Amino acid sequence: TACGSDSDSSGSSGGKTGATTGGKSASSGKTQVGVILPDTTSSTRYTEFDTPLLTKAFKAAGIKVDIQNAGGDKTKFASLAQNMISEGVSVLIIDSIDAPSGAAVEAQAKTAGVKVIDYDRVNLGGSADYYVSFDNEKIGQLQGQSLVQCLKTAKAPNPAQVIQMDGGTDVDNNAVLFKSGAEKVLKADSSVKVVADSVVKGWTVSNAAPAFTQALAANSNKVDGVYAANDDIANAVIGVLKSKGLNGKVPVTGQDAGVEGLQNILRGDQCATIYKSYAKEADAASKLAIALVKGQDVASAGVTLTKFNDPKGKRDLQAFLLPAQIVTKSNVKVVVDSGQVKAADLCKGL
Ligand code: BGC
Repeated sequence: TACGSDSDSSGSSGGKTGATTGGKSASSGKTQVGVILPDTTSSTRYTEFDTPLLTKAFKAAGIKVDIQNAGGDKTKFASLAQNMISEGVSVLIIDSIDAPSGAAVEAQAKTAGVKVIDYDRVNLGGSADYYVSFDNEKIGQLQGQSLVQCLKTAKAPNPAQVIQMDGGTDVDNNAVLFKSGAEKVLKADSSVKVVADSVVKGWTVSNAAPAFTQALAANSNKVDGVYAANDDIANAVIGVLKSKGLNGKVPVTGQDAGVEGLQNILRGDQCATIYKSYAKEADAASKLAIALVKGQDVASAGVTLTKFNDPKGKRDLQAFLLPAQIVTKSNVKVVVDSGQVKAADLCKGL
C-alpha cells in the first residue's frame, strides 16, 4: 500500500502547506486577479488543493491575487465578486455555486471590462470567454467503469443491485456530466441493475446519509454497490454502511482523491476514486489569467485551448479540459507520487 513504503520526498505541489484560508498575496499594489471558490463543505478539494495551489502559482508569478471562498452562499459569492471588480481586478476566476449566479457575476464583469475564467464548473448561458476543467463526462464514465470492475472483484450477484448517489445535478453542470457519463456505462452493462437514483441536492453532504438510508430502505435494505458522485458523498454512504456492518463488502465509488477519500480506500471501505490533478488545473487557470493580466495573447500562455460548446448560450468558450484517472487500493501511490497528497498525511491514523 501507499503507507509504509513511500518516503515523504514528494508532496511539494499540493498538500496542506501554504494558505488554507486564502487571502491576499504579499506583493504590493492593487489586486490583479480575484478567485472565488464555491464552498468548503461539498468537497475537501477547495481548501485542501485549489486554494494553496492557486495561491502558490500567482505568488510565483508576482501577481497579486485575492482568493476567497463563498461558503455555499450565492449572495456572498456575488458580493465578493462585486468587491473584486470595484478593487479593479483584470481577471476573475470563478468556480460558481450554480450557473445562473455565476452568469450574473460574468455579466457584471463584462460591463466592467474584467475577463472571466470559469474554473472547474462551466456557467452555461453565461459570458465567460474561458473554461478550465476536466473532461467531466469522461470522469463519469470512469466512475461507472470502476464500479463495474469493483463489483466483479467483490463477486457481487448478477445483476448487482446498485444505488446511484448523484451530486448536485440541480446546480452544477459537472454533476450532470458525471451522472450522464456513469449512466452510459451502468445502463449498458447487464451485470448491473440501478435500483435507486438519488440526488444529493446542491452537493450538500449532510443530506447524503439520510438520502442513502432512505434509498436503501426503499430497496428492502438490499445493496450490492454504490455509485457515489464524489468522495464526500462516499464517506457519508460508508458511514451508513458501517452502521449495518456492510462497509468493505459493498463497493463504493467516489471522486477527488483527497486525504479522507484515499484513507477510506486504504481501509478497504471505498473501492475506487478518481484522481484529478488539481496542480494541472490550477496551473492552466493561472497561466491564462497571468497572460490576460499582462495583456498578452492567450495563445502564448502555453495552454492549448479547444472549443467547448455551451448549448444554453449557443456559443463556444475556449476550454482546457484535463484527463483523469481511476484510483483503487492498488495504485494509490499514483496520487502520492504526483505530489497531490503527502504519504505522511495519508498514513496518519491508519
Ligand atoms: C467538482 C468536484 C467536487 C464537486 C463538489 C464539482 O463541480 O468537479 O471535484 O467534488 O463539485 O464540490
